[in-house]
Amino acid sequence: EWVNFTDFVSHLLNRFDMIVEHDQGEAQSESKQYVIKRDLGNQALWIEIDTDQMMRVIDNIMNNAIKYSPDGGTITVRLQQRQNQVLLSIADQGLGIPRKDLSKIFDRFYRADKARSRAQGGTGLGLAIAKEIVNAHGGKIWADSREGHGSTFYISLPYEPMEEEDEWDEV
Ligand code: ATP
Ligand code: MG
Repeated sequence: EWVNFTDFVSHLLNRFDMIVEHDQGEAQSESKQYVIKRDLGNQALWIEIDTDQMMRVIDNIMNNAIKYSPDGGTITVRLQQRQNQVLLSIADQGLGIPRKDLSKIFDRFYRADKARSRAQGGTGLGLAIAKEIVNAHGGKIWADSREGHGSTFYISLPYEPMEEEDEWDEV
């Protein structure tokens, strides 16, 4: 399905904004305060993706960012076009990931600091599935992190900039 990835990401993030509002009246332990900062630009970026699958990818990364951050963190979501790619980055101010674990977090069932992770719940499959999906789209997924400072997850997907000729054709 062809989608404007800028709108796609924007709508997906709206859902997370709504979740916060919805949770505010509920038990304190069930909800977590966070702020989403968007830097998506306003350029239409048309790409062909499996929308359900890509939603799972971004959902997991957003949920991880919330799950592995203390209350009150800011999650910065940025979308950029870089030549023949779109680059989405999701940065949190959470616990971070030890350098030695960075290469393993995309493995099936791998969870850094098992005790801590178990207390948070989860199977350790989210990022492995995310990697399979992004790879199937011809893209790449990777992470950067500083322990104790936060993590940034990157997804790049193939993008063909529209040629000017195409625009003239439409006139
Ligand atoms: P689930 O299957 O429910 O997604 P999970 O969140 O533990 O379980 P993954 O999403 O695959 O599994 O993440 C793997 C591990 O990578 C996590 O258990 C955690 O240790 C680490 N991790 C992932 N995202 C972050 C993050 N934003 N900050 C810190 N650690 C993270
Ligand atoms: Mg997860």
